[in-house]
Amino acid sequence: MQNPTELLKDYIRFPSVSTDPAYGEGMAGARNYACGLLEQLGFTVETVETELHPILLADRIGSPDWPHIVIYGHYDVQPADPFALWTDAPFEPTIRDGRLYGRGAADNKGPTIVHMAALARVLAEHPDLPLNITYVIEGEEEIGSPSMPAFFERYAERLSEADFMLVSDTGSPNTEQIVITTALRGLVDLEVKLRGPKSDLHSGIHGGAVYNPIQALAEICASLHDADGRVNVPGFYDDVVPVFDWERDELKRYPETVESYRRMLDVPAFYPANGLSPLEAVRFGPTLELNGIGGGYQGAGSKTVIPSEAFVKITCRLVADQDPVKIQQQVVQTIRDRCPPGVTLSLREGGIAEAYLVVPPGRPNTPADQPEALARAFRAADRAIGEYFGQAPIYLREGGSIPVIADFKKRAGLDALMIGLFTPIDNLHAPDEGFSLSLMDKAIAAFEDIIKRIAKVS
Ligand SMILES: [Zn+2]
Repeated sequence: MQNPTELLKDYIRFPSVSTDPAYGEGMAGARNYACGLLEQLGFTVETVETELHPILLADRIGSPDWPHIVIYGHYDVQPADPFALWTDAPFEPTIRDGRLYGRGAADNKGPTIVHMAALARVLAEHPDLPLNITYVIEGEEEIGSPSMPAFFERYAERLSEADFMLVSDTGSPNTEQIVITTALRGLVDLEVKLRGPKSDLHSGIHGGAVYNPIQALAEICASLHDADGRVNVPGFYDDVVPVFDWERDELKRYPETVESYRRMLDVPAFYPANGLSPLEAVRFGPTLELNGIGGGYQGAGSKTVIPSEAFVKITCRLVADQDPVKIQQQVVQTIRDRCPPGVTLSLREGGIAEAYLVVPPGRPNTPADQPEALARAFRAADRAIGEYFGQAPIYLREGGSIPVIADFKKRAGLDALMIGLFTPIDNLHAPDEGFSLSLMDKAIAAFEDIIKRIAKVS
């Protein structure tokens, strides 16, 4: 296999923007490119048709007695717009100061090339490597993976034969300190509309007689948290997974302080997050956020009006063991209960996603039945990252959501070893996305070691 940097450049040259139909050719190009690399590595590749962008499902299966891993990634990228803000053309990869720039360099083409380059090296040394590998590379991650439910419907049983999965679609604080992500938050989406009078009213003629929908909505919104920052929805915290001391200790190793975080966000003070520190709150706690609010007169100057309606958009980030269906119902019921009789409530219940949590081996809360292959992979990763990056990885829950990871667990029983290869300067989804070439080298060496240890040839 070619030099990894050249591979990544070639891969980036296919503009695989999944959201825009104008990039169909780029999508096909990136898919064929990934498919070709997998075939070079000896995989049997199946292109699973979907309503939009096909999924690559590739197997290298030998004996049922070998460990079996699934490697997940995505070949689609975010749009490159606005093009004018890029230093160089987004789909013409360029190297500056040890970084390779281009859309998808970090999310997720760089990490995909890291895995494949490492595997190529291992297979060159051990052509009969005793490891079953299944690749799932989808083309709709950046648009919410709409085809994955149907994919699981067809392939979950087959995937469930694997022991665990390997993913690098999460971040680390810098190129020296790798994070192994142990949790992702779930999501609940909701929109609330309150309707008052059938049309906007003159506040001099009708003011004082009717319930102003903006006021009613503001009262409901204000009631959704208490003074300590706790979400004030009955039952909201019932199933929240506890935070263990080892997790707080790991977070202390993270190279960020409350003060540096505060300065980065430029806020005068943090919100009282229910007894958690701000750095803990974004990882360990569930939230309810008001994402947008509207109603009434929005133009210049003033207008003496009682608006006929008001709306708010709400999302919750959930932690493991919170059931998104149950939480959505609890929030809906709470809002219904608190809605005054003077307004009419309507609700749009949007999408939901489950949270995910995996516990590394040897912790007080490690499940007794953790698969041996997963435990071995965690230990291999710990050791290899320590060796090639010079520091042991930090095991950390992440505040973001990758719903497909929870789906792999729920549908196919697969836990994920998530080794973060992006860093904050990689500008994911933004202009001048890039990937560190020194991180790429270290990561390839580390993954080479990890794969060998999973396969027990090292
Ligand atoms: Zn990604």
